[in-house]
Amino acid sequence: MNNNIFVAGHNGMVGRAVHEKLNKNGQNSIFTIDRKSVDLANPEQFEDFVLDNNINEIIFCAAKVGGIKANNDNKFEFLYQNSVMQNNLFNIVRKHKIKKLTFLGSSCIYPRDCKQPIKEEYMLSGRLEETNDAYALAKISGVKFCEILNQSNSFDCRALMPTNIYGYHDNFSIDDSHVIPGLIRKFYEAKKNNNNNVEIWGTGKPYREFMFSEDLGDAISFIHSMKKSDFYKITGPKSLINVGSGDEMQIKDVAIMIADIFDFRGSITFNSSYPDGTPRKRLDLSLLDKTGWKKKHSIKEGLKNTVDWFRENFNSIRK
Ligand code: GDP
Repeated sequence: MNNNIFVAGHNGMVGRAVHEKLNKNGQNSIFTIDRKSVDLANPEQFEDFVLDNNINEIIFCAAKVGGIKANNDNKFEFLYQNSVMQNNLFNIVRKHKIKKLTFLGSSCIYPRDCKQPIKEEYMLSGRLEETNDAYALAKISGVKFCEILNQSNSFDCRALMPTNIYGYHDNFSIDDSHVIPGLIRKFYEAKKNNNNNVEIWGTGKPYREFMFSEDLGDAISFIHSMKKSDFYKITGPKSLINVGSGDEMQIKDVAIMIADIFDFRGSITFNSSYPDGTPRKRLDLSLLDKTGWKKKHSIKEGLKNTVDWFRENFNSIRK
């Protein structure tokens, strides 16, 4: 049987990176769909699309995502929209015996005060960080669905937990974005308007591990294409695997790196009326290392590429 792979969420930063990578690899039967034609929150539309196209593999990058403020301010939407899409997904996978699923979560599924670096087995070993607990709960339910389906040998559901991602086609709004696109936008505007100060949310003290979207796209397509026996030899039936870069930095240092790229010479101030979120979430990458996958970009290269892309595409991007 042909491998008809559905990349769900191909208009988002991560889905795009996966789609481009699969195309570069010359994989031909790749299917994508725009939200206007098929709403993944609609069970019939989603199911019809899968059946009409004989989809037998899914890489699920579709999600409602956002930075610390968006997550904290819109908990209902983050829990509801992600749960609905995922519930449809897992129902379809189960009902139509989809041969292979790669499901994406996030490092925020792990407890707030987790031992570092975070091993996959630490999931559900403590309380979640409150600013993103709604999103995290939806993703934890996805991980659990994978684990439950994998109890039967006819399923192959791989749950990948990426760290903080940045890159092309990200959301560069001030309010809803993650820290890197948010700061790129702020430094860009400050330079343009000759503004001498840029304000950073929180204390600048938390640490985050950052990964360039092209590296994540590469890792996802690599792991998706691994032989079933090779993959489960590494993860066991739980199928949970961290995907990170090892590039961990304090927020204040990321701000300085971005300021340098823009040649911004003004001051950086910290507004601690905004939340810091979790103090640290460095992933343990021992399982990822065992797969043989390696990242291709340093954080310096990734940030420079992203800023160049942002400048070139400023007029057309989501702001
Ligand atoms: P998180 O990893 O879920 O906390 O997501 P974010 O990427 O949104 O935030 C990471 C850290 O960067 C938090 O400590 C934020 O308070 C801090 N931060 C500093 N300035 C900004 C900003 O302009 N936007 C965002 N989103 N976060 C910022």
